[in-house]
Amino acid sequence: MCLFCNIIDGSVPSQKVYEDDMIYAFKDINPVAPVHIVIVPKEHIDCANSVTVDNSKYVACIFEKIPEIAKLCGIDSYRIINNCGEDAGQSVMHLHFHLVGGKKLGERIL
Ligand code: 5GP
Ligand code: ZN
Repeated sequence: MCLFCNIIDGSVPSQKVYEDDMIYAFKDINPVAPVHIVIVPKEHIDCANSVTVDNSKYVACIFEKIPEIAKLCGIDSYRIINNCGEDAGQSVMHLHFHLVGGKKLGERIL
């Protein structure tokens, strides 16, 4: 089982922000901004390269819920980040989207 599967099943504690039957959102342990939430599908999907016609409903659900999760955190302007693979800095091989905001992020991506 991967770290985020353990966070979803509660065997590793996390600060939950939102949960439903499809997705789980929690505060990043090492935040880069005042709001830094990690949003994961409840089904284990390795990374963006592993999204298929059979599991893309989890990705759709995450994006359908992002405005609500952002609102729960008190923001309506934010950046969504997905790191896919080693060169991009993906450190946990369970598909996840970073929701980052709560400060002026600037126009540059990197
Ligand atoms: P990645 O680098 O794979 O895109 O993002 C993984 C994120 O998970 C990092 O921002 C890291 O701080 C966060 N993270 C790693 N381990 C834990 C943990 O045990 N709990 C929480 N809440 N976040 C974690
Ligand atoms: Zn997993």
